[in-house]
Amino acid sequence: MPNKFIKPIIVGNWKMNGLKSSIDELVKLIDLCSKNTKFDVVIAPPYTLLHSFNDLIKKNESLLKLGAQDCHHIASGSHTGSVSGEMIKDSNAQYVILGHSERRIQHKETNELVSKKAHAAQLLKLNTIICVGESLEDRSNGNHKEVIGRQLADSLPNGFTNKNTIVAYEPIWAIGSNNSASKEEINQMHKFIASFLLKYSKENYSLPIIYGGSVTQFNAKEIINIDYVNGLLVGGASLKADSFFGIIDAI
Ligand code: PEP
Repeated sequence: MPNKFIKPIIVGNWKMNGLKSSIDELVKLIDLCSKNTKFDVVIAPPYTLLHSFNDLIKKNESLLKLGAQDCHHIASGSHTGSVSGEMIKDSNAQYVILGHSERRIQHKETNELVSKKAHAAQLLKLNTIICVGESLEDRSNGNHKEVIGRQLADSLPNGFTNKNTIVAYEPIWAIGSNNSASKEEINQMHKFIASFLLKYSKENYSLPIIYGGSVTQFNAKEIINIDYVNGLLVGGASLKADSFFGIIDAI
């Protein structure tokens, strides 16, 4: 059964974008979102903005939630340039995106590392958004289900639950391409992921499964209404309050 009783979640991933002055976009977004109670809206700016964004969210008593884009799997120590789950918690962020394809490709992150990070984050009671997605080559070869199944089996840590884990299906070929996957492709893969997880988890969990890849205010409504889609992960269109709110407003 499509899991449509879950409150939809819309996540904005700013990636390596945003300076101190970007707080203006957050001010605007807080204002635009003030009447939204239908969806959980999460904004994931770069680490450097987490504390100031948290201050503003608190000051405005906004329902917007804060997320980080990655975390290290160790709490502290000699890991120059890394940020731990504890540091993310310290900023009051409640979510962390893990295993994004850009980290898997650019930082050579393996499923095993993603699983370690997710385990560490879940111990700290962070909500983990674990990304999976196939390349164009995998899809052309017809290997997409096998690849996603492997990513899920190896990236989800022992002990994950439907309270601390969201799966983001993000076909790599759709990210930043202005060409989202089709309705049929999204439905087929979300359905596959839902039934895989049901069988894979001993507790038969149905986790929220969100879609990412060139979501805009023009296709958001159609995508969110697809069976087995419980939310959206938005990159480019989340950078400006107007276009991000356009998505929230459209659905
Ligand atoms: C992403 O990278 O997570 C993403 C979905 O990007 P975009 O919306 O720009 O395709």
